[in-house]
Amino acid sequence: MAKALIIAELKNGKIVKNGLEAGSKAKALGFDCIAVVLGNGDGAAGIGEIGITEVIQYEYDMYNGESIAATISELVKDKGIDSIIMANSWTGKDISGRIAAALDGPALTDLVELTLDGDRLVGKKPIYAGKAFVNYAAKKSPAVITLRANTFPVVSSPSDAKVEKIKMDVSGAKATLKEFKETQGNKVSLTEASIIISGGRGVKGPEYFPKLQELADLIGGALGASRAAVDAGWIDHSHQVGQTGKTVSPTLYIAVGISGAIQHLAGMGSSKYIVAINKDKEAPIFKVATYGVVEDLFDFVPAFKSEIEKSRG
Ligand code: FAD
Repeated sequence: MAKALIIAELKNGKIVKNGLEAGSKAKALGFDCIAVVLGNGDGAAGIGEIGITEVIQYEYDMYNGESIAATISELVKDKGIDSIIMANSWTGKDISGRIAAALDGPALTDLVELTLDGDRLVGKKPIYAGKAFVNYAAKKSPAVITLRANTFPVVSSPSDAKVEKIKMDVSGAKATLKEFKETQGNKVSLTEASIIISGGRGVKGPEYFPKLQELADLIGGALGASRAAVDAGWIDHSHQVGQTGKTVSPTLYIAVGISGAIQHLAGMGSSKYIVAINKDKEAPIFKVATYGVVEDLFDFVPAFKSEIEKSRG
């Protein structure tokens, strides 16, 4: 059976869901999986939720992509791994190319589909801001794969994972990360949220974003924004969705007063259901929307919120 190394991350003592998605996909394709968990603390055994039992956890004083990629590349050789599969997270973007280069293998990144053609991995990836897709086939092994978050389901198959903790020495790296500063963003991570409510220029000013945040809190979602709203200084850039913001793929994306420019669609076009609220029925967002509401948002949003509150008693 072909072997896959799943790379998952630990955040606040828990395995980040996108690592479970990567592992579930690898298992569904029939790989024999072992996992590397990156990050400090307990909780790495959480990867056992998807039936992976062999886990190596790397802890470090400070994250360093160069050292992590070098260590993982050696591990891949030692363990005879055929494929390395992880999320297209910040870490995935940082280390996937480095690992592929070290192993002289292909890197197929930001995939929204992954299949096997014989023993070759084939991945589908959106390009040109989501206007087209390409299919890539990995011609060599080991292949490095990154998957778009929230695109692949987590398949639960609980088992007890045995975790070997290793302290990674990052002192030999040529570049050092000095500091991590978390932005004042969402309570729910935008890239992992299954529901996102985003506001655009149509909300007319910064005072409307707290109202959208209340709605997002009510339904367990995260708050997003278009670049026009960010550039106007109405909301922090950490909320921006799109080509020069975050790429998201929630189950439900609600666009409020957003026209649907191609650069915005590039960041949210792969959402499962898109609901657009816009008073202009010709707005391009309606071309990608699953449900369209042609209404003044200042009438619709409060009515929508009050209906949700009523339904919750
Ligand atoms: P507008 O296009 O002005 O749309 C506002 C919408 O609100 C309109 O459709 C209007 O009908 C509607 N509206 C107004 N009032 C109401 C009301 N009362 N009720 C209901 N609807 C109402 N954009 C991004 O979002 N993300 C990016 O990452 C990004 N990157 C870019 C990168 C480059 C290189 C470039 C050139 C552009 C980028 N843009 C990006 C900008 C993008 O082209 C658009 O300008 C931007 O997305 C428009 O934002 P918007 O939809 O909020 O505003």
